[in-house]
Amino acid sequence: MTVFACPGCGQLVYFANTACLACGTAFAFDPASMAMVAVGPEVARCANAEVAACNWRAAAPGALCDSCVLTRTRPAEDDLDAIAQLQVAEGAKRRLVFQLLRLGLPLEVRDEARGTGVAFDLLSSTEQPVTTGHAGGVITLDLAESDAVHREKVRTLLSEPYRTVLGHFRHEIGHYFFPVLLPGEGDREAARGLFGDEREDYQAALDRHYAQGAPEQWGEQHVSEYATMHPAEDWAETFAHYLHIRGVLHTAASWGLQVRGPQLPGGTQPGLSVDPAGLEEVDAEGLIGGWLPLSYALNAVNRSMGEADLYPFVLSPVVMTKLAFIHDRVGRVSPRGAR
Ligand SMILES: [Zn+2]
Ligand SMILES: [Zn+2]
Ligand SMILES: [Zn+2]
Repeated sequence: MTVFACPGCGQLVYFANTACLACGTAFAFDPASMAMVAVGPEVARCANAEVAACNWRAAAPGALCDSCVLTRTRPAEDDLDAIAQLQVAEGAKRRLVFQLLRLGLPLEVRDEARGTGVAFDLLSSTEQPVTTGHAGGVITLDLAESDAVHREKVRTLLSEPYRTVLGHFRHEIGHYFFPVLLPGEGDREAARGLFGDEREDYQAALDRHYAQGAPEQWGEQHVSEYATMHPAEDWAETFAHYLHIRGVLHTAASWGLQVRGPQLPGGTQPGLSVDPAGLEEVDAEGLIGGWLPLSYALNAVNRSMGEADLYPFVLSPVVMTKLAFIHDRVGRVSPRGAR
């Protein structure tokens, strides 16, 4: 995430802020300039400013911003519990959309007639069952995932090391980008060599996964246990990790965070230093090589607060190859991807 400046006084402000605490200027995030702009006669807030707690700029008064326009279904406005959950989910979604814009990954607004583009159905499971997932460009999120107690319960039940709303979005958008990043049969064949054949029977894979769990040595080939379920899930899980890594590296670079390496009695350990600012334009090897020392350091920082690791995953050589494949494919469609 970028660090932003108040358009009134230049003070540091954050991505979700709506006004400056120092000078009082009301501002909105402008996706065209990727900066905060002062709200006024020329600059309108998104029409979902209230209901989705959205702080983005819209093209005109009464219009939706580039993030809210992607939401196709949301709870009724008088369902206050669900609206509170919606606001959490929309906040995470804006973070996702920001990152995709920044990486130059195209997010097309859904065209229902043609069945193209992406849409989000953000639904409350209080009245009817909702399954989080992706189908043909439509991403469904169970808004109960916005509730920390519910989410932690599910995370523990499934023995997952990590579960967040942003993580859900990064995973589901991975499914959407599969055909976008791999448009031809040759591209798909290349992906199958790493992730497996995405045409495999999904229901059979799902049944097998929930009956038997992940194979014992899953970490050698996969980034998570869930990734072992089906090749399409392996792709989506790895894609989510690609966004995790790029997102944290970008934030670290924006803050000028550097890792000089642990100060050991015998000197600094080689290979454990990184300046994330240099990693925006590098190849996959450089990117992952830089991610390792940063994530080790941030994990150690989290532990010193009694918290779980920031990045509770191990990247095996095979997983790194899969991440490199995604970095390469992102670079082919994006001017800001791999160079
Ligand atoms: Zn200010
Ligand atoms: Zn909005
Ligand atoms: Zn999935």
